[in-house]
Amino acid sequence: MVPRSVSYWLARSIESPNLNALDLISVVTQLIYVLIFISVALRAVRQPTRAHGDMTLFFGAVAFIILASRVAALVGNAPPWLTTVEIAVLMALPYVLLRLVDDFTHVRSAIKRGAELGLAAGVIATYATAPALPTPVILYVVLYFFGVSIYCAFAFIRAARRSRGVTRRRMEAISLGSILLGTDILIAGLTPLAGPDDRAVLEALGQLLGLGSGVAYYLGFAPPAILRRAWQEPELRAFLARSASLPRLPATLDIVRELERGAANSTGTTARIGLWQDDTSKLRFWNEDETTLDLEPGKHFAGRAFELQRAIFSTDPIRDNPDGAADYRTRNVGAVLAAPITAGERRLGVLTFSAERPPIFAGSDIELAKLLADQAAVILESRALIDHAARVRAREEATRLKEDFLSAAAHDLKTPLTTVVAQAEFLERRATREPSAPADIAGIQRVVRESKRLAGLVGDLLDATRLEQGRLVGEREPVDIATLAQEVCTHDASDLSLCQVEASAPVVGVYDRRRVEQLLQNLVENARKYSPEQTPITIRVWQEDGEARVAVADSGIGIPAADLPRIFERFSRASNVDDRRFHGMGLGLFICRGIVEEHGGRIWVESEVGKGSTFHVALPIADGRRLN
Ligand code: ADP
Repeated sequence: MVPRSVSYWLARSIESPNLNALDLISVVTQLIYVLIFISVALRAVRQPTRAHGDMTLFFGAVAFIILASRVAALVGNAPPWLTTVEIAVLMALPYVLLRLVDDFTHVRSAIKRGAELGLAAGVIATYATAPALPTPVILYVVLYFFGVSIYCAFAFIRAARRSRGVTRRRMEAISLGSILLGTDILIAGLTPLAGPDDRAVLEALGQLLGLGSGVAYYLGFAPPAILRRAWQEPELRAFLARSASLPRLPATLDIVRELERGAANSTGTTARIGLWQDDTSKLRFWNEDETTLDLEPGKHFAGRAFELQRAIFSTDPIRDNPDGAADYRTRNVGAVLAAPITAGERRLGVLTFSAERPPIFAGSDIELAKLLADQAAVILESRALIDHAARVRAREEATRLKEDFLSAAAHDLKTPLTTVVAQAEFLERRATREPSAPADIAGIQRVVRESKRLAGLVGDLLDATRLEQGRLVGEREPVDIATLAQEVCTHDASDLSLCQVEASAPVVGVYDRRRVEQLLQNLVENARKYSPEQTPITIRVWQEDGEARVAVADSGIGIPAADLPRIFERFSRASNVDDRRFHGMGLGLFICRGIVEEHGGRIWVESEVGKGSTFHVALPIADGRRLN
């Protein structure tokens, strides 16, 4: 009987009391299909989605055919109506598969209608000709089955390519299962037409294909947890590899972006992260255009997942969250999954996924989403720790700097102040005791000199503060540096031959005159301070490569090589400088660098201990501003 041959692979074992290898395969195949049916039916009860319903329908149909064939075999001769129903159900199988394809990817309605018409035509033809189906009807049924299954297999492959991780593997398995099942039915249908020798071979092949399809469907529709985890692993590992360096990215937003990208890649959906803001008690999301969106806990899926501290999944977001309906419609969102990002007791935020269609394997996706959210929590937590450590370090550094600053300032201000106070007291006593005595000119000059030094130190302290705020340089005007250098030399040197300017032509740029003068003064003063008395200082001024160049050279004590890298830093003094002999706070060069850099220039030094130093300055000529 023909129908028996079609469902042969499903019920073969019944017919021969002694089980041979092929019969055993048949039994195993049937068992697998029944197991899958039970598994998907249970899942459909727990999570009644359309996809789960269609899966149950598909495997329910297979289970029905298996059962019907067994009943028919037990009864001995199946009633004709049962055969017709069996064939109808068999034909419905690929159609249900097509619905499944449609559950997660689009199937053109022409194809759906064509498959429905084909199914109706097949059922009518079977009903009209049962029980002795003519060969054309068998061929039609078999080819319909084969054609639709293969179409579905390719649709699954196409969809698999767009998906990631577990979902991809599962769809590949389903695709393989569909190819094997389609081919199996084709072979089963053609077997009766073959010669007796070929028939045995085809039957054996049919059994193997049946088993193969069962196993492939099992892996696709109801994979054991261990396999799901193994399939998740590559995606997770890639995510972990990418995320290892994330906590050290410059800004938290960079981390959020990378995490979102990683989560999206791992799931094949759109992923977004909202971070909890303690100050506003809201979840903050960052849009593509850097604008932000603040969400109250409890609102929308993200807010609810955060408040309830559990993953929320919706396959109909418009129904489940009408407040967000407009947004879901414009973004074409058909499924949303939100998982809280929580590290221990600390609620850090929420990770949401959205996709156009509900994922076919929601269970796997929820598992993966939770893993990714946990991973994100680890990364964000370690970022928070790094930030906290940096804040503590910065606080300590600021305190240390303040202490350094105060002690340096107090120390340096104290010396001239003590002199001024002592000298002034002395003058006062003298004037009180001997009002008619001539003025102590030398004493008064000392007071003036030390007061000026004091004023200079206070000026340096103020400049250092201005420099921190980047507002050292003010109004700019055309300045001839060669003339300015000459003025500094003349002003400072008691003996002109000890300060010489070498300049063959004016070098004019647009600078803050007062600050450039202060720069030259600082360098010349240092050259004099750190050189034996009566040794000459040279200032060379020239123009080179569009820059004004200045070199202040002395043949003084020099700077040890080890101190050179930090000589322009605040409070930095070289190790060969004795504090008692050379007064200073280590702010002069720091201010010089500030002046030069605010003009867009460079400053550096060449020095050798015992031989002397040359300080170089290069300032842009064009307009005194940075030229980039
Ligand atoms: P201060 O002179 O107040 O210490 P500066 O910032 O002007 O501060 O200089 C920093 C340090 O650089 C000095 O303490 C000194 O060790 C070294 N230095 C600066 N100019 C010279 C120079 N011309 N020759 C040798 N050492 C110098």
